[in-house]
Amino acid sequence: MKADADKPYRNLVNGAWIDASDGAVIENRNPADTSDIVSRHAAATADDAKAAVDAAAAAFPAWRDTPIGKRAAILERAAAYLDANADQFGHELAREEGKLLALGVGEVKRAAQTLRFYAIEGQTLTGETYPQDDPAMLVYSHREPLGVATAITPWNFPISIPARKIAPALITGNAVVFKPSSEAPLIALRLVEAFVEAGIPAGVLNLVIGPSSATGPAITADPRVRSVSFTGSTGAGEKIHRSLPITTRSQMELGGKNPLIVLADADLDTAAQLAVAGGFSLTGQACTGTSRVLVESSVKDAFIEKLAAKAAALKVGNGLDDGTKVGPLASAAQLKNVLDYIAIGKGEATLVAGGNQLTGGAYDKGYFVEPTVFADVSADARIAQEEIFGPVISVIEVADYDEAIAVANGVQYGLSAALVTNDFRYIQRFPHDVEAGTVKVNRTTTGNLVNAPFGGVKMSSTATFRESGRAGLDFFTQIKTVYLGR
Ligand code: NAD
Repeated sequence: MKADADKPYRNLVNGAWIDASDGAVIENRNPADTSDIVSRHAAATADDAKAAVDAAAAAFPAWRDTPIGKRAAILERAAAYLDANADQFGHELAREEGKLLALGVGEVKRAAQTLRFYAIEGQTLTGETYPQDDPAMLVYSHREPLGVATAITPWNFPISIPARKIAPALITGNAVVFKPSSEAPLIALRLVEAFVEAGIPAGVLNLVIGPSSATGPAITADPRVRSVSFTGSTGAGEKIHRSLPITTRSQMELGGKNPLIVLADADLDTAAQLAVAGGFSLTGQACTGTSRVLVESSVKDAFIEKLAAKAAALKVGNGLDDGTKVGPLASAAQLKNVLDYIAIGKGEATLVAGGNQLTGGAYDKGYFVEPTVFADVSADARIAQEEIFGPVISVIEVADYDEAIAVANGVQYGLSAALVTNDFRYIQRFPHDVEAGTVKVNRTTTGNLVNAPFGGVKMSSTATFRESGRAGLDFFTQIKTVYLGR
């Protein structure tokens, strides 16, 4: 789908690409070069969002009753469309969001993989039969879809996160209202376009790009919306969660403050590399990004030296350019937020790498910040407690494994945590001791599999349902128990 040169891309409601009811437009700019307008989008209003819920509610019964093989075939065809266009769409994604080109293309392919996974896995949902005393009765349970499912997603993984919500919702027979972030709207539109090309019936998948203040209440508080799957900041997620009708199921995937623990026996080059990959890839804008490194005292100085050197060696630039290792921050708001935290860090810790906005030449066109490392960070410092969501790592000294666990757990979040060691005693204890939904040993805090569950504990997730993998299907279905007598 192409936008006319003078017309913005439109939202999809009830199978039709519609203009904004008030004609407002969102400009989507490249954060590496803000003079580059990547796309323009009709900005949905509250009325447009309500129309999307109307359409989904009307389309739901027929979609629920569509044979699962037909639903699966649509997911498969949408996946094939994404794969066939992965280079173009990945380039657009890198351009609108700032991530490296290879990561953009990889994310489009991952979304395709997610669609394929749910096309198969969704066909394996089963119920149970129940033994009982009446020989003339059959008792069984089965799963049925909830109804209208709202998916609200952030800009940092703007196609893979929507895919892991929309695919399980659709394969289980729900009708979807999808509201992506206005910071990376084009790739979200591409995902919807893939479903349209695949033959999704009108109203089954609706796209609402527009300000959350206008669209939010219409797609969350309406009692016809039976589930809201949200990924984004803890503040926004908590607010939406509290506003939902009691009949609306909620799944909130929120912020993190993820620790990487480095024990004294660790190979320090490996540990520093894991910290760099987890903390600075995606310019630190991953919910599972490494934002704290907890390192045992005896190796602290040697580790910091290696980490600071690796951080300083990273080439920061446009994600579309060869050799770039760290792209721009995604928006002016992100730049301000990260610079504010760096200023706070300078007041409460020792700066050992980075610490500045990059300026001059091409840097002046975008939102570039040096990969930044703070040492001598106390466990209760603001930069050790609050999510920064940028390329900033806080190194905290700990006396031993037990103190590392206490510090790791001493934040409101619990998304991902990793340990670097070869000591089997600690490898075995760590998954039990650490408060996190994703636990890793000798790997980065970032990254998760399409076929495995994903989510956090404490303020990183609602304590309801995991997403991703087979577990991701549960959220979109409910159990019905049936007693058949004769
Ligand atoms: P955000 O909370 O600002 O926005 C997320 C989405 O919610 C956007 O589409 C936004 O428009 C929408 N939104 C905000 N308020 C709303 C409301 N009241 N009603 C309806 N919609 C509303 O987050 P962001 O800046 O886009 O993303 C960064 C955040 O996302 C970070 O905190 C990060 O940790 C988190 N995140 C979490 C995960 C996870 O799986 N846990 C994954 C990626 C990002």
